[in-house]
Amino acid sequence: MLINLSELFTREGKEETYQVPFEADTVDHMGQTYEVTEKQPVQITVTNLGERKLLLEGHAELTLSIPCSRCLTPVPYPVSIDVDTVLDLKLTEDERARELDEQPFLNGYNLDVDQLVCNELLLSLPMKVLCREDCKGICNRCGANLNIETCDCDTRALDPRMSVIQDIFNQYKEV
Ligand SMILES: [Zn+2]
Ligand SMILES: [Zn+2]
Repeated sequence: MLINLSELFTREGKEETYQVPFEADTVDHMGQTYEVTEKQPVQITVTNLGERKLLLEGHAELTLSIPCSRCLTPVPYPVSIDVDTVLDLKLTEDERARELDEQPFLNGYNLDVDQLVCNELLLSLPMKVLCREDCKGICNRCGANLNIETCDCDTRALDPRMSVIQDIFNQYKEV
């Protein structure tokens, strides 16, 4: 959702509060695409601080569906995002993006609320999510979800320590 800030740009001290929908249905993170399964409208307050600076304060609540990193079962992952950033309009969009190391969320006079929220969101996402602390994962051989079934595969060779030793052994064999 884009908010046109042109009126705010010109009036020092002016403050405006918006409530806008988060429009994206998916979020990309480290090469993965997560579905947004629940979302609340984004609250955002923009204040013109003078000297061509805008204060952006916002709050968003979303739930993403993130696969368990062991068994791949989708796990609902609620996130609460707080935005609190000062936008210096003396910098160009490129300079700002480089400085903040994030996607530009201001395009001309238009504030891209989805992008603003996504930038914060990506910082708060964990490297991995588990469906439960003791998730047993899936069998590397037959793909059985070991939380709900057992399989008869010989998993001894799947011990990661063993496979390292095997790799070394195989390297020696090839030489
Ligand atoms: Zn799991
Ligand atoms: Zn198996």
